[in-house]
Amino acid sequence: MKHITVLGTGVLGSQIAYQTAYRGFDVTAYDVNDDALAAAKQRFEKLAAIYRDQVAGAADGAADAALGRIRTSADLAQAVADADLVIEAVPEQLELKRKVYAALGEVAPARTIFATNSSTLLPSDLVGFTGRPEQFLALHFANEIWVHNTAEIMDAPSTDPAVHAAVVEFAEQIGMVPIEVKKEKSGYLLNSLLVPFLDAAGDLLVDGIAEPAAIDAVWRIGTGAPAGPFQIFDVVGLTTAYNISSVGGPKQQAFAKLLKERYIDQGKLGVATGEGFYSYR
Ligand code: NAD
Repeated sequence: MKHITVLGTGVLGSQIAYQTAYRGFDVTAYDVNDDALAAAKQRFEKLAAIYRDQVAGAADGAADAALGRIRTSADLAQAVADADLVIEAVPEQLELKRKVYAALGEVAPARTIFATNSSTLLPSDLVGFTGRPEQFLALHFANEIWVHNTAEIMDAPSTDPAVHAAVVEFAEQIGMVPIEVKKEKSGYLLNSLLVPFLDAAGDLLVDGIAEPAAIDAVWRIGTGAPAGPFQIFDVVGLTTAYNISSVGGPKQQAFAKLLKERYIDQGKLGVATGEGFYSYR
């Protein structure tokens, strides 16, 4: 693989494009219009600054060289004309993604592999729209890709094993640890573990069993983990936690109510606002 195209240059798409360019690939970043591409360029500049600061060796010209390997385009056919791999990171909406794949399948070369970064949709939800069932799979990155460098790779039932192997190799080449998921599973591995863990912590709080500091302390000290569940909630952001909990069962809804009344309504949204369960000021 040499030429990689990333569709969608938002939070994750910009990180995927930049990391891929940082590792030496030619990258085309596609988004819907010039305004979105202008925002993308700002994201890439910001990422270059973060890499200079946080990634060993990036300050010696590598962060700037990565910027030079990214081309932007708002023309889909042009953006994918020489793509070996297209990584899709458009908003998490089923109908939108299906439309994107239908359009992409029409204009991409026959050899091009498609990979979705979707967090919640399964490859089976999208594969029928790609026009190439053997060359489609999920390649799921984590936010802050330069630190949390996992790439969960999950096939559709129709994915060609050779395509899977090529994507595993690509993930390694861009500095990710490939995590192979052997069957389709909503939430992949990380969220299949994390979500029940965070739900259990929410239940303990809602039921009045213990306060966040005690729950976090027992987890950290008892397991050696660097952070407890409420510290993780603060990093994820309490609005996201609220959005997920408020559509869950009765226990999760009680947690959502607590989050809203005690924290969100007071502007305490987590690390991003300087305060959530803990203060970061
Ligand atoms: P985002 O809203 O930040 O960015 C989406 C981008 O897609 C925007 O730049 C938007 O202009 C663009 N877009 C909209 N319609 C488009 C189209 N038709 N074609 C091309 N681009 C289009 O979203 P995000 O947080 O980067 O999420 C993107 C995908 O990555 C989702 O599937 C999400 O589940 C997944 N993901 C997100 C995270 C995260 O932490 N944000 C982590 C892992 C995976």
